[in-house]
Amino acid sequence: MVDGNWRGIARVPRGNLELRPEWDHVNARRRFRIDTAAVGGASHNLLAEHCICGAIMSGLARPSDCPIFGKECRPDSPVGACMVS
Ligand code: SF4
Repeated sequence: MVDGNWRGIARVPRGNLELRPEWDHVNARRRFRIDTAAVGGASHNLLAEHCICGAIMSGLARPSDCPIFGKECRPDSPVGACMVS
């Protein structure tokens, strides 16, 4: 278990799973160089600033409260995790 962000809600100490070193040969994070900041491009990062998944997952907001719900963020082009979960 390692510290990490959980569903956009909060950073949870020891809340994420990570493969042990003996499984590095099948760990994509170790095998491939992935620039997560570049995934989706700059426009995606700008859109992600509008994402309120944490509030939705916490029951504090509805998806329709998100200004880009159904517009820039759709099931076929999700910006955040809650659009596809
Ligand atoms: S509609 Fe998209 S951008 Fe908005 S909260 Fe849901 S996943 Fe995030």
